[in-house]
Amino acid sequence: MLLPPNGSLGTLTAQEAALSRMKGWHPELQALIEQAYPDTSTLLSIGVVEPGERWAPGPVTLLGDAIHATSPTGGNGANTALRDADLLGRCLIEATEGRQDLFTAVDSYERQMFEYGGEAVRHSLAAPSTCADWAGRVNHGPAMRPFAAVGQAYEHGFPRGRDCAVRRALIVVDVQKDFCEGGSVPVKGGADRARAIAEMVQRSAGSKYAHIVATRDHHIDPGAHFSDHPDYQNSFPVHCVAGSEGSTFHPHFAQTAASGAVDEVFYKGAHSASKSGFEGSAEDGTSLAVWLRARSVGAVDVVGIATDHCVKATALDGAKAGFAVRVLLNYTAGVATDTTDHAIEELRQAGVTLTGKPVVLDG
Ligand SMILES: Cc1cc2nc3c(=O)[nH]c(=O)nc-3n(C[C@H](O)[C@H](O)[C@H](O)COP(=O)(O)OP(=O)(O)OC[C@H]3O[C@@H](n4cnc5c(N)ncnc54)[C@H](O)[C@@H]3O)c2cc1C
Repeated sequence: MLLPPNGSLGTLTAQEAALSRMKGWHPELQALIEQAYPDTSTLLSIGVVEPGERWAPGPVTLLGDAIHATSPTGGNGANTALRDADLLGRCLIEATEGRQDLFTAVDSYERQMFEYGGEAVRHSLAAPSTCADWAGRVNHGPAMRPFAAVGQAYEHGFPRGRDCAVRRALIVVDVQKDFCEGGSVPVKGGADRARAIAEMVQRSAGSKYAHIVATRDHHIDPGAHFSDHPDYQNSFPVHCVAGSEGSTFHPHFAQTAASGAVDEVFYKGAHSASKSGFEGSAEDGTSLAVWLRARSVGAVDVVGIATDHCVKATALDGAKAGFAVRVLLNYTAGVATDTTDHAIEELRQAGVTLTGKPVVLDG
């Protein structure tokens, strides 16, 4: 039960204070408290940290209750601490793998953590009416509502309500000129799927998806990924070179992408093959997984080109990263039937949900 900030019940015992707040409750519930052994009740003061200002990133950072202690109900406290640990861990892995320097990684963690940590605290201060009598008297009210931005963890174990529904994003993979008819690594049906994806994005923007993002191959020097004698599995003709015409979105999708319906673009493969969109980064260096988690996205739909290459790699990586992944096969284009069938089997085994029918025009 909630107490005033000084933790005092005045002249009341804990039992009496509890009973005083149970007027009109079922008599059996009142009897439960009346007949309880008094020593099983205890006083508990709970402090809530006021969200503070950011500091310059350095060799020390904070997570969990050390920086944003909230009142403990609704999974607010432990979940936010776990989210910090997950995010910080991912940022540090990026630094260890040389994708960001250490301070940039810490900065990326702190930037996001301050945002959702502050939101967690603010939510915990918004007391619902059932506690209004106490909330009016304490500095920091209870958090009876689950913290909306906690995200994925809720999917597995916390009550689902409006605030904690799993947020889904759409990932549009590599709808670029070079992967469509007329490009250097054309996939038959690519242009047609580009149009279908654009229409679907326009229909869905702002309603079906919390966010819509796109990925782009963005090669500078991807090593053996480019070959004069490509095997079309690991090596390919030169394609999607950064800054080239072929690397731009296909015209059927470009206007939609530029219209504001796409929230962020993630570039991948500057110096590697990088088939998975989860290897990509936004222009500010934020990786796709970190970006999605920062927005409490727990589930993703994947569409794009090609089903048997970058769509597959993106979906598999998304599942590995803990997202609930669906591939909307109607909005993909595959290079060949056998490799697409194989990709679909791999996706299925990885727990990826598949909807629609694969589109393969290799005949
Ligand atoms: C009674 C109670 C009920 C709660 N119920 C819920 C709930 O239902 N749901 C929920 O989500 N959250 C709940 N919380 C909040 C949740 O427990 C915390 O938000 C969460 O544990 C914070 O995790 P943390 O890792 O940041 O800190 P902690 O779990 O506090 O871990 C910090 C650790 O650091 C150690 N430590 C401290 N100082 C030092 C030092 N100088 N040297 C070495 N070690 C040190 C501590 O001993 C501790 O083990 C509750 C909290 C309380 C007190």
